Amino acid sequence: MSQRTMAVVGTGVIGNGWIARFLANGHRVFAYDPAPEAEANTRRMLDDSWSTLVQYGIHKDASKDNLTFVQNLEDAVAHADLIQENVPERETLKKQVLASIDHHAKPDAIIASSTSGYMPSVLQEACVKNPERIIVAHPFNPVYLIPLVEIAGGKQTAIATINEAKQIYDELNMKPLVMSGEIDGHIGDRLMEALWREALHIVNDGVATTEEVDKAIVYGPGLRWALMGPFLTLHLAGGNEGMKHMLEQFGPALKLPWTRLIAPELTEDLKKKVIDGTSAQCGEISIADMEHRRDRFLIKLMGLLEEE
Ligand code: NAD
Repeated sequence: MSQRTMAVVGTGVIGNGWIARFLANGHRVFAYDPAPEAEANTRRMLDDSWSTLVQYGIHKDASKDNLTFVQNLEDAVAHADLIQENVPERETLKKQVLASIDHHAKPDAIIASSTSGYMPSVLQEACVKNPERIIVAHPFNPVYLIPLVEIAGGKQTAIATINEAKQIYDELNMKPLVMSGEIDGHIGDRLMEALWREALHIVNDGVATTEEVDKAIVYGPGLRWALMGPFLTLHLAGGNEGMKHMLEQFGPALKLPWTRLIAPELTEDLKKKVIDGTSAQCGEISIADMEHRRDRFLIKLMGLLEEE
């Protein structure tokens, strides 16, 4: 794998995760974020997570010194092979930033948005120069460890762009999943939102606390989901007839009143329950320490997955 030049635009939680993954794989990174404290935050995150990355395995040329923070978007993207956009999830802002990236990028650069929600066809509407180079490449937090990246092209995206992008994310030790179409929320987040919606109903109705809902996943379905997704999990739960039996037996549960499918209103009371509940779950442990615990666990879990 040759060393590439990557650009990261927007260096919050996800942008920083991409920076760490790109650096760990031996690439050069140019980063841009207008927030005054952005560079200091990124360098702190790198210092904090580098030992985790080393433990997981980094490229022989990997170095934190391969990161350059620049003061404007043009300098970040002008020479990049892959540009990863990670600005806040607001349509107008995303379109404006992507149009500017499109204007300043090399014609053969791949321009990827990390958006959790927007379809690529919507985002590329604002790009007049090379809309065929725009894709969605949606990662999962922490980006430097979780391998999945969902790739989707829009109406104007060239097949060649998707193929090149898939190869680059493959070489970044990721598991790129190329979607056959595009939908709001892509795949992973659509599934998580369905779960999140039901979890909020359960807390709102006083059936369980946030901690109890989390326990119901951690000691139950969550353990299986690290190995098998919802379809194969149910297939194995259907005895000799597998999925056929499951559909006959539990098909009716897909209908109301078992499933609510409409999000509860985020009232002040519900917000308080959820915010207080999750804070209480952390107790005296800081979010940074919880992240370390999560990362240690993920590394072991991914090791197990590779053994299977
Ligand atoms: P964040 O709020 O942590 O970071 C956004 C960053 O963008 C901030 O540092 C901000 O200063 C910067 N920014 C604002 N305007 C900018 C501009 N004009 N140019 C450059 N930078 C600018 O947000 P996040 O959670 O990192 O989310 C970023 C994107 O990633 C969103 O589209 C989100 O949907 C997507 N995403 C988030 C997650 C997640 O779990 N947080 C997961 C996958 C994808």
